[in-house]
Amino acid sequence: MEKIKMTTPLVEMDGDEMTRILWQMIKEELLLPFVDLKTEYYDLGLPERDRTSDQVTIDAANANKKYGVAVKCATITPNVQRMSEYHLHQMWKSPNATIRAILDGTVFRAPILLSCVKPVVKTWEAPITIARHAYGDIYKSVELRTEEPGVATLRFVGQSGAVQEVEVQRLDGPAVLQGMHNKEQSIRSFARSCFQYAIDTKQDLWFSTKDTISKTYDGAFKEIFDQEYQSYQAQFETLGISYFYTLIDDAVARVIRSKGGFIWACKNYDGDVMSDMVSTAFGSLAMMTSVLVSPDGNYEYEAAHGTVTRHYYRYLKGEETSTNPMATIFAWTGALHKRGELDQLPDLCSFAEKLEAACIDTLQSGIMTKDLCSLAEGIEVKPVNTADFIRAIRANLEQKLA
Ligand code: NAP
Ligand code: MG
Repeated sequence: MEKIKMTTPLVEMDGDEMTRILWQMIKEELLLPFVDLKTEYYDLGLPERDRTSDQVTIDAANANKKYGVAVKCATITPNVQRMSEYHLHQMWKSPNATIRAILDGTVFRAPILLSCVKPVVKTWEAPITIARHAYGDIYKSVELRTEEPGVATLRFVGQSGAVQEVEVQRLDGPAVLQGMHNKEQSIRSFARSCFQYAIDTKQDLWFSTKDTISKTYDGAFKEIFDQEYQSYQAQFETLGISYFYTLIDDAVARVIRSKGGFIWACKNYDGDVMSDMVSTAFGSLAMMTSVLVSPDGNYEYEAAHGTVTRHYYRYLKGEETSTNPMATIFAWTGALHKRGELDQLPDLCSFAEKLEAACIDTLQSGIMTKDLCSLAEGIEVKPVNTADFIRAIRANLEQKLA
């Protein structure tokens, strides 16, 4: 069989630990035999980030901007323990944070559904995609803890010298304080990424904040979304999809009662918390896909989970592991499909679709990694190790391509 051709390289960002092992297996078994894979390779494994003083992460993010589509393996975010484990020169920042800062985007997370794994919420029939704003709020806040009574104020000095000041609180004793911000530009980008993604995937868009309490801060989010929607409204109407704003607590209640099949745009913290709730209720973090979409149309696909350290340590001891490669495979298929769309390569798109279908069929036939075995219902389950799972997918894929 002739291999499927690519025209523009995909930016490939390799990573760490067990997912780095999966990465290699996926390429060798499921991609290289079928696709004339063109990638620009960046090694974001921790040793290489340390050796290059993290320049490799910046280079990879810039390549993502240049070519438009990247696929990323999970990477270690160093902490104190990793400093000694990897003899690091510095506690490097999270690569995802660095890439997000350069691309300025929104992270969309959606579960991969199986008919044999029923969501905890019985009414959910279609995936719920969480769109998480990836900048600011408490993730870029400053905090104080005080020991005596006093007055706390919030003060802004403009470039012009103009001052705006409000009293936070007159405190009669020790207290805790927090100052956070967001930027109008970032909120606008967030809104545009969400509207664009809703159009790309033909799904309704929900957005929620707490603007009844936070009239200025959350009020600005709501207002900016309303303004940006004006440019997309006609396209929404043509596609028959809708934009819907509601309060976060009302949204939570409606999401639980819904059938799914929409995008839920959340502020940074809400998205952090709600994506864990939604992924767990749908099954497992190993079945959650994630894509960062920038407002100027760059895409970075990855798995939502980490490097699965516990499995890696077992792998290093020579023990058998049953790590689920689904989210990592779907990062590749998402990226290849997007590359195919942009470069008008229908064969590449069709390959990505067939590989996804081969994965789903393998799971539906009961061949699955251990994390899914306890969740599957109504089928006979055959637990397998990672390598056997990938080989079973390959057999299914070969049939579909024949
Ligand atoms: P993790 O790698 O997501 O794994 C946590 C646990 O979830 C695993 O021990 C495993 O449970 C289960 N799990 C996750 N993915 C799985 C898969 N594909 N197949 C089967 N089970 C899976 O999270 P972590 O242990 O907290 O973090 C490990 C490293 O990943 C850290 O260094 C962190 O910085 C990094 N991280 C990176 C990213 C990213 O690059 N996007 C995101 C999160 C974390 P059992 O052990 O019970 O089987
Ligand atoms: Mg979280």
